[in-house]
Amino acid sequence: MKKIVVVGSGINGLVVANYLAKNNFHVTVIEKKDRVGGACVKDTAVINGKDVNYAHGATVLGMMQKFVFEETGLDNHVKTYFPKEPKIVYFNDPENATRIFQDTNDLCFELKEKWNEEGDVKSFRDDENKVIDYLQNLYRNGTTPSIESARENLGHYLTKLWVEGSAHDLLNHYFTSEKTKLYMGMTVIESGPTSLYEHGSAINIPIMDSGSIFNGYWGFVKEGIWKITEKLSKINLDVGVDIMLSTEIKEIDTKKNIIYYLKDKNENKLLYDYMFFATDPITPSKILGDKPFTAGLEKKDWIGSSGKLTLFFKNPVKWKYSDKKNNYDTSFRFIFSNETLKEFEKGSQDAKKGLKDYIPGYIQIYPEGAAQRKMGNVEDFDKVILFTKNFSFENKGNNLNETKNIIISSFLNFIENPEDLIDSKFITPKDLNEIFLFPKGNIDHLSLTKNQNFDKRTFSSNPNEDFFKYHDYNNIYYCGAGSFPCGSVAGTPAYMSYKQFINKDLKELI
Ligand SMILES: Cc1cc2nc3c(=O)[nH]c(=O)nc-3n(C[C@H](O)[C@H](O)[C@H](O)COP(=O)(O)OP(=O)(O)OC[C@H]3O[C@@H](n4cnc5c(N)ncnc54)[C@H](O)[C@@H]3O)c2cc1C
Repeated sequence: MKKIVVVGSGINGLVVANYLAKNNFHVTVIEKKDRVGGACVKDTAVINGKDVNYAHGATVLGMMQKFVFEETGLDNHVKTYFPKEPKIVYFNDPENATRIFQDTNDLCFELKEKWNEEGDVKSFRDDENKVIDYLQNLYRNGTTPSIESARENLGHYLTKLWVEGSAHDLLNHYFTSEKTKLYMGMTVIESGPTSLYEHGSAINIPIMDSGSIFNGYWGFVKEGIWKITEKLSKINLDVGVDIMLSTEIKEIDTKKNIIYYLKDKNENKLLYDYMFFATDPITPSKILGDKPFTAGLEKKDWIGSSGKLTLFFKNPVKWKYSDKKNNYDTSFRFIFSNETLKEFEKGSQDAKKGLKDYIPGYIQIYPEGAAQRKMGNVEDFDKVILFTKNFSFENKGNNLNETKNIIISSFLNFIENPEDLIDSKFITPKDLNEIFLFPKGNIDHLSLTKNQNFDKRTFSSNPNEDFFKYHDYNNIYYCGAGSFPCGSVAGTPAYMSYKQFINKDLKELI
């Protein structure tokens, strides 16, 4: 049986281990930390003497492909929920909001009425769906992304607009209202300060909507999203994967295929036929001692600008905005501090330059507690998550108390029971670097900018032939969040690299 070592036990390490083990490989996962999960793990706060689990990093599920959820066996072990209610968007006024309906006709009507949108919302949705179909086909078949295949599938016009073009041009093509443009374009900077004016930034919009587990929408996991990695790790043990925690790789001899590692203060070695790195993309190069390649990687754009505040309430949050029939308890909500794309871009770019610790952009609000109640998990405290833009890479959350209070008090304007807030946890890109080992705090490990996005999101020296191979190492792959399509609790790079591996390399071996 061929031996495969997977380095890293985040979602990508666990997904690739699962597929490989079920295909008759002997798989060993090596993890540096003392637990599995990477950035999809829980933390525990003690509030009023009670232990409260909450999502430390990732919170909501949405980018995973349905087939990955089913084929790994996760669908039998975790319960999920995604809201069918419209999303709620605020521009400062807590009592007045715009509803983002899933139904396109309802959405067109609402955007016209609230934001005076005169553009073509329906064509935007239709065209985006074509691009998403194309992306999902790449994922399913493990096909290398390329401009040529985009042209073949989408035609020259849509490829230019959605794949090669800038988000700024794309948004201006379909919409007239700055507010619509801001709402539809916000995911371009979801993880880091990608410029809206950069060629190739448009593709971030359909990529962020290309999950199929909830049909492009986002949702929740009963108890918390960490159940995904917790359960997958158990499933993997059942299918024969060995998982070595608290293990530090000291050296790799790529000629003899030997990994030297340290565990429990003991030095040891492990033989491999293939390796899959599911870490950030620079870690393999450092471990392999490949100085020239490391130097090249260091020049890439790594920076992240997202932070996260978890708020705990004594009683369920009551929103000021609701309509006559609905209270929209489990709706995702968004608070924008900018009114134009220009302002939005400036805030994001200024954070990148480190001009200020925090420059208000938008807050995505995830109603975790309300969703848990919906799934029958009644907890002691209501949890609301504020996924917030834009932070610089300078300071940790613990050193930014004033910033934290500004964000919290602006949020409390939107609810009727601010006095129920009892505790909060705050992390910034700097924390993401220290807690989760993300090089510069980007939740995609590596920014989704032009020379490192779509067909360029690879570390292979021969991407046309071996997209997921690492540099020019024959039997080493890279499948962490830094490769195509991006990060997220999805495991898509893991599945795609596995697919390319069994389609190509194994055939050559036989
Ligand atoms: C605050 C925050 C909020 C987020 N919100 C969401 C969200 O709501 N929804 C969503 O889908 N995604 C979200 N993300 C992004 C998502 O968590 C990541 O993209 C995803 O977890 C990356 O998975 P991965 O397996 O590629 O890498 P990681 O999860 O980073 O796992 C890599 C693993 O490799 C290990 N490792 C590193 N170096 C070594 C080494 N030398 N030897 C052995 N092991 C090593 C690490 O310890 C880690 O366990 C968020 C991330 C953060 C931090």
